[in-house]
Amino acid sequence: SGRVGFLGHPIRPEKKGFFTPLRRLGVKGVEIRKPEHLQSISSLIIPGGESTTMAKLAEFHNLFPALREFVQMGKPVWGTCAGLIFLANKAVGQKEGGQELVGGLDCTVHRNYFGRQIQSFEAELVVPELASKEGGPETFRGVFIRAPAILEVGPEVEVLADYHIPSNKVLYSSSAVEIHEESAVPEKKVIVAVKQGKLLGTAFHPELTADTRWHSYFLKMASDIEGATSNAIVAASSS
Ligand code: GLN
Repeated sequence: SGRVGFLGHPIRPEKKGFFTPLRRLGVKGVEIRKPEHLQSISSLIIPGGESTTMAKLAEFHNLFPALREFVQMGKPVWGTCAGLIFLANKAVGQKEGGQELVGGLDCTVHRNYFGRQIQSFEAELVVPELASKEGGPETFRGVFIRAPAILEVGPEVEVLADYHIPSNKVLYSSSAVEIHEESAVPEKKVIVAVKQGKLLGTAFHPELTADTRWHSYFLKMASDIEGATSNAIVAASSS
């Protein structure tokens, strides 16, 4: 089935990558593959991968209406990387046709802003929301794998982190330039983490670092809303 194709994807960041940090935080992850699976959970993580493939699989399993409903019900959802693209109201920088989106997060995302896989990188981000009361660091090491960037946000959206693009950074490969026509001149900084109500979006991969502060942040967001009952966090993936 299509699932095998996703599993073979060269840049598939393991959805399982979320399970370990969540377990360390005392929360069990549940895998979501079908619309009815969403009924048993209170919050959802849409991990990275390749958004076109993920969208095809989600479409095949008729997940989009259920995912939209989940978002519209105000349940906490965290989209990371391709998952962020899923949550965005608008995606640009893709070959024509694009892909179906879940939407809900009022922002415009550029799907491959930083270029191709080979241009993946790590960067130290400043994230004041992650600093602890005890004076813990506000920096976070972001792992960007063929990452998207958030180019515009609506008034309801809170920006949690920007990435300041170093002036010597080569942003585009020749093939990426084609899909950059709308913004041929690179920005000086782009947005890489946002929050809107119960929706969290990150352009990088927190599950690939040992640092669990983003996971805790999301769990806190989820429990603020649902009190003590929110224990069924989920890594959703169609892989
Ligand atoms: N740019 C990718 C896409 O379009 C996302 C990459 C990722 O999730 N690591 O799907």
